[in-house]
Amino acid sequence: MTTIAGLATARGFASGPVFVYRGDGQVPVPEYLVERDRVDDELMRLKRAVVETKRDLETLISVLRQRTGRSDVRVFECHLMILEDEALKEETKGYVVRDRLNAEAAVRKTANGARQQFERMNDPYFRERVRDLDDIERRVLKALTGFSSGAHIEIRTPSIVVADDLTPSETVQLPRELVLGFATNGGSTTSHVALLARALAIPAVTGLVDITARVKPGEVVLLDGTNGAVTLNPDESTIRQFNDLVERQLELTEDATRGAPAGTLKSGGDVPIYANIHPGVPLAGIREQGARGIGLYRSEYLWLNREMEPTEEEQFAAYRDAAKFAATLPNGGEITIRSLDIGGDKLVRGISSKEANPFLGNRSIRYLLSHRDVFRTQLRAILRASVYGHISILYPMVSCVDELVASSMVLNDVKAKLDDEGIPYDRSIRVGAMIEVPSAALIADELARHVDFFSIGTNDLVQYTMAADRGNESVAHLYQPTNPAVLKLVRMTVDAAKRAGISVGVCGESAADPIVGVLWAAMGVDTLSMSPTYIPLISKILARLTREDLDEYARVPENVPPGETAHEIYDICHSWLNTKIPNLDDILI
Ligand code: PEP
Ligand code: MG
Repeated sequence: MTTIAGLATARGFASGPVFVYRGDGQVPVPEYLVERDRVDDELMRLKRAVVETKRDLETLISVLRQRTGRSDVRVFECHLMILEDEALKEETKGYVVRDRLNAEAAVRKTANGARQQFERMNDPYFRERVRDLDDIERRVLKALTGFSSGAHIEIRTPSIVVADDLTPSETVQLPRELVLGFATNGGSTTSHVALLARALAIPAVTGLVDITARVKPGEVVLLDGTNGAVTLNPDESTIRQFNDLVERQLELTEDATRGAPAGTLKSGGDVPIYANIHPGVPLAGIREQGARGIGLYRSEYLWLNREMEPTEEEQFAAYRDAAKFAATLPNGGEITIRSLDIGGDKLVRGISSKEANPFLGNRSIRYLLSHRDVFRTQLRAILRASVYGHISILYPMVSCVDELVASSMVLNDVKAKLDDEGIPYDRSIRVGAMIEVPSAALIADELARHVDFFSIGTNDLVQYTMAADRGNESVAHLYQPTNPAVLKLVRMTVDAAKRAGISVGVCGESAADPIVGVLWAAMGVDTLSMSPTYIPLISKILARLTREDLDEYARVPENVPPGETAHEIYDICHSWLNTKIPNLDDILI
């Protein structure tokens, strides 16, 4: 028996036979010199392959539009754009005409050049786009050679898909009903396989060293996406323990919709739990997990993977549909739409400018205030959608009062224009500020005068407080939600909200960590919002605690002697929860 550790990318368990997918490198690339008088024929062959690829992609897009969410389709729209990029086309033709390379070799040479450019970029988002390039290259080569690969993944029985990494088209073309889980050598948190796995609630473990070489097709493995491990050749007792975990996870999810609303405490009262989502994710899953509503709608995903900005109509339709859906959720039904949060790790082609320090640059609310047309269009779309549900607006990355004053002027202008045009909107729409920069927490009292609620974004708050890039593995040890400095800023924010009589929630992923999420609830936040698959877990823990327990828990880190590290505080909190909930570790599985 061998257990390989990896990244716990998407929660859940699966056991089953392995389907090893070796997509890359399967298309043979012949390389030869074209006779001088055959160059025109070769160009024609290249042209035909591009036309055929374009047709295939368009068919795929129309099929996918019916089957999956919009963001999946956008990936292929982006592939179409790469395919039709004039500069790339000219470069490829040049290799045929000037160097008399055959079409396949010319395509590979162009793709290699573009790949090197992407890989040199110091940004995980763009590095991830190498996959898009691989994908489109493979399609064109397939059209040229007639060699079939990648487009059809011959998976026939329910299996755990093991791969080096998966391109977007490979991932979305896998038949959902036959995929029990994903296990990949590569993959990061921005990889398509990670995003899709979480959105579709398929367990996934990524970053497994050499898994493709270590498994045999058909052998049964155990995949634990909750803890990030894959076990090969499991013995009888490991299988029994694993099945027990699977059973318990199932019960947990079933409880999520059967029991009291998510976030209900043992003593009555609650800390309602909402879902973090982005456009393109099938919404139905969040109902199954018991979400009360959508606590964070990351609107910037409407901008990713595309050249043109989404129009007002496109945005309106997306916000309206999400708001209508949220309104059907029992026990809540609100949706908080965050205005465009680009910059930093979320670069958008065409509008993210090249900056030496993008994490500290013209991003999020700063970008919107310096591009008022973009801001106005978005606010207009949100306001128009607000009559279809219970929408709130959330401004990202606020760092000073001026930004809120300026934003509210823009909002008032947009409202006045809608009034002139006789277009209805929710006149009591609530407006909030993300607290994700230390300065915002430090001046929370002043900010609270300008908004109806705070939403604490711990993903960024931790990064900016600790000066530790949230995506950089080499400083991951400094990324500490329970660092006393972070705890202090959260406490200041909560206290300021209480003094001002406004609500405060946490929408950073730390809310999904049982020890930390429950600590935020104990420290007095009114709501939690997280990836949907984690809602049943946090809900189950809260259901075992009374308000008095939470009050006591809030004092635990306060009573930790000064000088203790974030890890010690985490462990002390864990132990305290263990004493209150003796079977805590069974729930955490
Ligand atoms: C956060 O920073 O905690 C947050 C929720 O925003 P995002 O992860 O989208 O930056
Ligand atoms: Mg953030």
